[in-house]
Amino acid sequence: MFNKNRDKEIVVPVKLELNSPFCFSCDKDLACFTKCCKDSSVTLTPYDIIRMKKRLNMSSQEFLSFYTVPAVIEGTELPIPMLKPLKENTAECPFIAEDGCVIFEDRPLNCRYYPLGFGIYHNKDQADNEKFFALIKEPVCAGHGLGGEITVKEWLESQGISEYETINSLWVEIILKRKSLGPFVTIPEKTLQMFFLACYNVDGFRDFVFDTKFLLVFELTDERIQKIKEDDMECLNLGIDWLKTVLLGERVLKTLEKKAGIF
Ligand code: SF4
Ligand code: SF4
Repeated sequence: MFNKNRDKEIVVPVKLELNSPFCFSCDKDLACFTKCCKDSSVTLTPYDIIRMKKRLNMSSQEFLSFYTVPAVIEGTELPIPMLKPLKENTAECPFIAEDGCVIFEDRPLNCRYYPLGFGIYHNKDQADNEKFFALIKEPVCAGHGLGGEITVKEWLESQGISEYETINSLWVEIILKRKSLGPFVTIPEKTLQMFFLACYNVDGFRDFVFDTKFLLVFELTDERIQKIKEDDMECLNLGIDWLKTVLLGERVLKTLEKKAGIF
């Protein structure tokens, strides 16, 4: 979570490693309690949407149209949904209440990270991408310097971040591959729509699989087809495989020869 409306006030972030210690504690008794969520700008990852729409008992289409506005992933033209403020001309998160976040157990990844920020550096010459962290000190937040010392690694564990990162990792991979193509390659509008559908609208993508000729084009086992019907994560994984196949030419999905070329 970062606050775009307070950019001028933000103290320059402090760069951290996984083992770097910092002191931070967020507490209901602090005068700033809930203030950060009333002036926020939260972008959502694929797993955030799966968790939140399930919590709210909505389809992904309903969640996206009710709770999000479109944004763009920095350094690319790839779309990403962002939480829509509760009221027009405000930056108040729709899920904040007097007592705090009403979806706390299913809060998005950016909220889990806060007050840390993170970035990923894609190094073409190395097998692994390099991840870096920053401590974001905003004047509104009184939690800095409070509580015992904690390392970045311990903070990530305490916020349940690894589950999110594992599930989102293939989505991140596609974003990094897009970034590595450079700014002079343009992506057609239809392709951007495919990316949005597969990454964020899991129920819409499921309809696409079963209501079009998708299953005549791509070879999937009966077991996988059954899992996709029942399990959002399986459906997300198929969406990513589809993007890798049709966008990146990686042939992760096998095509049934005679029908190839429909998608
Ligand atoms: S989702 Fe919850 S934690 Fe995140 S900004 Fe909204 S109210 Fe705050
Ligand atoms: S301590 Fe920081 S994160 Fe916690 S409520 Fe206050 S402003 Fe928000």
